[in-house]
Amino acid sequence: MNITRSIQSLLICPLILVSTMFFGQVTKNEDESTTGIHLIIQQHTEAIFDSLVEIRRDLHQYPELAGEEVRTAAKIAEYLQNLGLEVHQHIGGNGVVAILETHRKGKKIAWRADIDALETDLPDVVAFESTNNGVRHICGHDIHTSIALGIANVLTKIKDRLNGTIYFIFQPAEENWQGAKAMIDDGLFELIDPKEIYALHLAPMPEGLIATKAENIFADYKMIKLKFAKNKDNAELSNYIKKLIHNLQNVPNDSPFWEMQTLMDSKLGLANPNTIFKDYITLNSAVTSKEKDDSINFYASMCTSDPTKLYSVLKQLKSKIKNSEFADQFIDIQFQEELTLVINDKDLTDKAVNTISAIYGNQSAINLHGIIPDGRSDDFAYFQQEIPGVYFLLGGSNYEKGILSMPHSPNFNVDENCIKTGVQYFSSLIAEKTKL
Ligand SMILES: [Zn+2]
Ligand SMILES: [Zn+2]
Repeated sequence: MNITRSIQSLLICPLILVSTMFFGQVTKNEDESTTGIHLIIQQHTEAIFDSLVEIRRDLHQYPELAGEEVRTAAKIAEYLQNLGLEVHQHIGGNGVVAILETHRKGKKIAWRADIDALETDLPDVVAFESTNNGVRHICGHDIHTSIALGIANVLTKIKDRLNGTIYFIFQPAEENWQGAKAMIDDGLFELIDPKEIYALHLAPMPEGLIATKAENIFADYKMIKLKFAKNKDNAELSNYIKKLIHNLQNVPNDSPFWEMQTLMDSKLGLANPNTIFKDYITLNSAVTSKEKDDSINFYASMCTSDPTKLYSVLKQLKSKIKNSEFADQFIDIQFQEELTLVINDKDLTDKAVNTISAIYGNQSAINLHGIIPDGRSDDFAYFQQEIPGVYFLLGGSNYEKGILSMPHSPNFNVDENCIKTGVQYFSSLIAEKTKL
């Protein structure tokens, strides 16, 4: 996941601004959470928490780039084998799959974690710093991996109380969008047969909170290419195209929309039904042009909350150009790049939020109302094209301690307590799922 916009403004914004946001204290529902299977889940998570932190710090010290996750994958496989699970390695490169079979009739559920790190020369902000020069876990995949191992451990512990089959998918190469596809192409879904698939990603919300949304959670991005026959002087055409594209944007330049902290604002942010982060279409960067021998191409990167909207935009642009003085020069308009979106299954999303809220309290899991404008999605989207599933955002920030878990930001840091939260919430969710 890559959230890049306004990183600079975020870094200079005082943390006090974000600490006043809507996502407040997490209160747990003692009655539900301290009974039966969920009590065992919490107790066992507590018991292994320190060891999961140790694993996370080890992975953080030895980060590996997409496609190079050899040590990481070996560590994962060893841990899963020690749990007694059926483990398959080298799937789609460095992918690892573990199967927890209860030998009782029931649902088949998959949990996916991504395992790769990324390139950055900026210094680490933690004591257990990366020993691999220029590579760091600043997207939190070390946390994702530790949580998934923790869930595997907890569910193995309570295996006798579960039904069906649980699959753990450790996916390499998320950062370059190759890992999910590579695993699928390498026969992942011939090896396992999940009916539902789940995953999480760290987000800059406070620790203790998870959030998701039915359908798309990230905005849709498309690069539009407009092709014209070249004239001696293309200045007028260039001005016309720039104006045309700029007019598509429905967010004013002085809107708080552009400030990253607004995403979490109590009134304007993603969690409020009246959020400003819906029904928008914006120009993502400057309109650029490239001249060829006999043609001139214009490129515009557009972003919208509604994935269907950009198709009608293309039609609108076409008809306007055909009615303009540049109609004779016009050759073609098309999308040059399209993003595969994370699309959450509505029914599974609603049920998952309700299940976790019922066990861990109303403020533990929330539904978002807005669409994140600068998430660049996640190749978990390819799994969701095969199997219905839900992608969650897991809070990793602790504003009092100055910890902000904004993926890909130079000062990316995580409150490791979110490992406990992730293991507990999602072990409970899967345990409930496997009930007949
Ligand atoms: Zn990332
Ligand atoms: Zn990521």
